[in-house]
Amino acid sequence: MLNEQERLEIYDKATRLWGLVAQYDQCVEEMGELIVAINKYKRKVLYKEYKGDNKIVENLVEEIADVSICLEQMRHFFKDYKIDEVIEKKMQKFLGQINEMEKEQK
Ligand SMILES: [Mg+2]
Repeated sequence: MLNEQERLEIYDKATRLWGLVAQYDQCVEEMGELIVAINKYKRKVLYKEYKGDNKIVENLVEEIADVSICLEQMRHFFKDYKIDEVIEKKMQKFLGQINEMEKEQK
């Protein structure tokens, strides 16, 4: 299994080979594929569409993996920005909303 350092080196090599814009384009494409995969999964589970299609979940997992790779790559490109601090701030806000909602439900 590749460790984080090895994955980051792969992103750097890819960027040298194809350029930064191609990497952004790939990320946009993968995110679009994830949107489609989520919608298909939702339609299968909620509306019982795609009955004969057994690849819906498999495809969703593939696209989650693709976008996870893209996000790691984007985090690597934007490593000078404090993304973990932004995540922490957003999670604290999210937790506050959950706590408020739970209080209202009691
Ligand atoms: Mg994909």
